[in-house]
Amino acid sequence: MASSISPKQALSFTSSAQQRHQSRAIPREFHVRFPASASLPSSRCAVKSKAARLKVLAASAAKVMDQSPSKASPQAPTVVEVDLGNRSYPIYIGSGLLDRPDLLQRHIHGKRVLVVTNTRVAPLYLDKTISALTDGNPNVTVESVILPDGEQFKNMETLMKVFDKAIESRLDRRCTFVALGGGVIGDMCGYAAASYLRGVNFIQIPTTVMAQVDSSVGGKTGINHPLGKNMIGAFYQPQCVLIDTDTLNTLPDRELASGLAEVIKYGLIRDAEFFEWQEQNMPLLLAREPAAFTYAIKRSCENKAEVVSQDEKESGLRATLNLGHTFGHAVETGFGYGQWLHGEAVAAGTVMAVDVSRRLGWIDDSLVQRVQKILQQAKLPTSPPETMTVEMFKSIMAVDKKVADGKLRLILLKGPLGSCVFTGDYDQKALDETLRAFSKS
Ligand code: NAD
Repeated sequence: MASSISPKQALSFTSSAQQRHQSRAIPREFHVRFPASASLPSSRCAVKSKAARLKVLAASAAKVMDQSPSKASPQAPTVVEVDLGNRSYPIYIGSGLLDRPDLLQRHIHGKRVLVVTNTRVAPLYLDKTISALTDGNPNVTVESVILPDGEQFKNMETLMKVFDKAIESRLDRRCTFVALGGGVIGDMCGYAAASYLRGVNFIQIPTTVMAQVDSSVGGKTGINHPLGKNMIGAFYQPQCVLIDTDTLNTLPDRELASGLAEVIKYGLIRDAEFFEWQEQNMPLLLAREPAAFTYAIKRSCENKAEVVSQDEKESGLRATLNLGHTFGHAVETGFGYGQWLHGEAVAAGTVMAVDVSRRLGWIDDSLVQRVQKILQQAKLPTSPPETMTVEMFKSIMAVDKKVADGKLRLILLKGPLGSCVFTGDYDQKALDETLRAFSKS
C-alpha cells in the first residue's frame, strides 16, 4: 500500500486538526517533529473525538490529576487516555493501584476472569491481583494460567496453554482475560484474547518498565515465529491498562535498564524536552525514584497514546515508534530469543540507526554523542553482540515487516533532536557501511 504514494510526499506534524487528518494518508516518508512547546500530548489528545473521550471519562470515576513529578500522589492515579473512538481506554498510573479493586472491577464484563501470568510473576503478584478482582465482588470467579517465563516461550505452543485453560474452564464470550506480567505475557495474553471465541474482553497489568512504557499500550499483540519476531499477531486494544509502579520494586536492574531503551526512544523520535529531562534525571530513574518513574511512565504513555490515536494500524506514523527495532529484532532473532533482552537489542539497534542517519548527513555529530552517552548512562549496550555478521543482519532484516516492494524502510533521525523519518528513500551505501562498521563480514 505504501508504494502507491509518491516518495516525495512528506508530512510535518503539528497540532493542527487538518494535519492530524492528513496523517491518515500513507506517505512513503514521514517527517515527524514536535517543538518542545507543543510536546504536551495529553492536552493535544483531548482535542480529538470529544464524544468518545467524554464517554470513557464518564465510565471512569478516576480523576485526571496534574501529573508533574513533584505532585505524583500515591492515592490518586494519574490517568492517560488512549483516544480511539469507541475503543478508547484509560491507562491508570500510580503507586499501590493493585490495592484499588474499583479501578479493575469497573472494566470486568461478565463474571469469569482468566489471569495469564508466568512462573516468575505469579508468586509476586497473582494473589494481590485476584484480590483486586474479587474483593467486594463475590460474583466474579478467577482462573489463572501460569506460563513458563521468557521470550523463548513467546510461541504457538505456549499460547495453546492459554486456550487449553480457557476451554477446560468453559469460559464464554463474556469473560475477561487479564495479562499480569511483562511484555511477553502482555503480547501473548492479548493475542489469546483477540482470538479466543473471536475476541473477548482484555485488561493489561504490566509489571516491567518495558511493558509499562510501551508494550501494554496501543494494542499490538502476538507471538514470535522461529524465522522472525512478532510475525504472528493482531491489533487488539485492552479495556484498560493498570500500572502499579510498586511492581517495579522487584524488577532486576537489567530488566529495568532494558525498559529505559524505549523511554529514550520517545525523546529521540518526537519529544526533545523529554529527552533533555532524561539527560538530567537518568540517575533518579536508575535509583527507581518513584516520582521520577511515574513521570517517565506518564510521559512515555502520552507519547505512545498520541501516536496510536493517529495511526492505530501502523500505516506510517506508528512505525516511527520502532526506532532501532529493525536492527534490534535482527539481534534478537540472530542471537537467539532471550539471550539479549528486547531493550538491550533495541539500544544497540538505536545506535546503528543513528549511525546510518549520521552517514546520510541527516543529523549532527553532537546528537550521535548524546545518544551514546544516555544509553551508556542507562547501562545499555551501544553495539550488537560480536557474533552478529553482516549476512545475518541482511537476511533477517529482509523479512522485516517494514519491507515494502523489496525495499527496507527504516526509522532514521533527521534534523534537530526530536525529529525522525520513516522512509525507504535513503542511500543503501550508508546502511551497508553501518552494517560493516558494527558487525563481522
Ligand atoms: P518480559 O516480559 O520477558 O519480562 C522480563 C522479565 O521480568 C521476565 O523474566 C519476567 O517474568 C520478569 N518480571 C516481570 N515483571 C516483574 C516484576 N515486577 N518483578 C520481577 N520480575 C518481573 O520482557 P519485557 O521486557 O517486559 O517485554 C519484552 C517483550 O515485549 C518482547 O517480546 C517484545 O517484543 C514485546 N514488546 C511488545 C510491544 C508492543 O507494542 N506490543 C512493544 C515493546 C515490546
